[in-house]
Amino acid sequence: MTAPLDRSTTWPYVDGEPGEFSYARHGSPTVAEAERRLGELDGGRALLFASGAAAATAVVLGLLEPGRTVALAEGAYYGTGELLDELAGWRVRHVEFDQTGPPPPGADLVWLEAPSNPFLTMPDFEASAAHPALTVCDSTAATPLHVKPLERGCDLALHSATKYLAGHDDALVGAVVCRDESTAARLDEVRRKTGAVAGPDAAWLLLRGLATLEVRVARQTETARSLAKRLGAHPAVEIVRYPGFGGLLSFDVAGAEAARTVESSTTLIANMTSLGGVRSRIEARSRWEGDRVPAGLLRLAVGLEDPGALWADLAQALERSA
Ligand SMILES: *Cc1c(COP(=O)(O)O)cnc(C)c1O
Repeated sequence: MTAPLDRSTTWPYVDGEPGEFSYARHGSPTVAEAERRLGELDGGRALLFASGAAAATAVVLGLLEPGRTVALAEGAYYGTGELLDELAGWRVRHVEFDQTGPPPPGADLVWLEAPSNPFLTMPDFEASAAHPALTVCDSTAATPLHVKPLERGCDLALHSATKYLAGHDDALVGAVVCRDESTAARLDEVRRKTGAVAGPDAAWLLLRGLATLEVRVARQTETARSLAKRLGAHPAVEIVRYPGFGGLLSFDVAGAEAARTVESSTTLIANMTSLGGVRSRIEARSRWEGDRVPAGLLRLAVGLEDPGALWADLAQALERSA
């Protein structure tokens, strides 16, 4: 059975008192059902937010205070660094560190990304677990099928559910999955007060996406593995970054001009941003990230198309860039 979509923003009191659901900013049935499913997958208590960025904001505002320091994985999602730059105005500092090693001492919150987007490094979970700070792992690109951060010693898993979990480029939604009930209660409080909660339509689309997550991610992984191998053997490709699982990879061509030619020459593969959808897409990340990434870096998010057709599309685009 499909879960019902309840768009109500308010529900009648039960015997004169608020029941389980009373006002949608505090909680609603479709959101609660999607949280139950995602919580099962990641092994904790899930909370849905209006976006991945809203989820990240709640973590910082709810679990830190002015004067605290976040140790952020170098090369992690560009938007997370931008968010922390914004919150620097509220005196939350951040420093970057190489997540393949231990986090810096003195950090109050360790922010990992598994794998990092678009550098595709994996964190040293043991080194982070040994650090006294609270640890959050953004496992958007891995999904709970490949990495369950709470089982690897993290306190929180964070998702842009906009990507693989919802999976069809039609829902903006984020999630935090907590190991402790007390942390979940604190984030729930912040979410109510700031109004950063997900809406019922996005939650419903997330439920629909979760129903096919396993087959989508298995297929994307299989295709991405084969494309990573073929890209690695192509003379126009300087380096391929792929962690061995998932549908996200990046590779470098000779420079900005070559990258521009490749991204604008593919036809089956869309030239657009984001990841985790059924349609493959490629983009030069320097348009967003500037010189934080190599000028020739292309991020490829593999969809569900025929693997042979995807390679043919990439190969003809690479020919043009040579
Ligand atoms: C897209 C993304 C985010 C931000 O999520 P939104 O849903 O766009 O707010 C955070 N982390 C990673 C790794 C992402 O790819």
